Amino acid sequence: MIDPFGRHISYLRVSVTDRCDFRCVYCMAEDMTFLPKAEVLTLEELDRLCSAFVRRGVRKLRLTGGEPLVRKNIMSLVRSLSRHLASGALDELTLTTNGSQLARHAAELAACGVRRVNVSLDSLDPAKFARITRWGRLEQVEGGLDAARAAGLGIKINAVALKGVNEDEFDDMVRW
Ligand code: SF4
Repeated sequence: MIDPFGRHISYLRVSVTDRCDFRCVYCMAEDMTFLPKAEVLTLEELDRLCSAFVRRGVRKLRLTGGEPLVRKNIMSLVRSLSRHLASGALDELTLTTNGSQLARHAAELAACGVRRVNVSLDSLDPAKFARITRWGRLEQVEGGLDAARAAGLGIKINAVALKGVNEDEFDDMVRW
């Protein structure tokens, strides 16, 4: 697949839901209205769409959200897409997550051939983490990170630098 500027497109990010179990202050209002279900692709449609891109040369697929792991039955999509890893048509299947549901899903993600995940985490201080995410609990994310490590997943941490909020933590986070 080649875009109008002649660039080969081999990496696709797919948002599988606009919903999330957190309400980060820079991302969502606390009282959110999400898209009606009818306007969101079904898991089967997402599979067809991703597979069409794979046929056209996409080698790396990243599932995102909102929070991808809160989508009902999301693992059925991961299981289905993993066939492209098995066939060699796809080099990498990965996801960006807030980590809240990783404890439940890390082992199956690894079994499906997912090798690494990006986890969004803006603070290592439980109270600050709760303030930033409104509904998030750091302990839950740490449990998810432990499960991901135990499953052998590589982890990359994405932190949003927030002036006056977590800027005093950057050194600690880098050390961590
Ligand atoms: S975890 Fe990500 S998607 Fe969810 S509210 Fe925070 S920034 Fe937005």
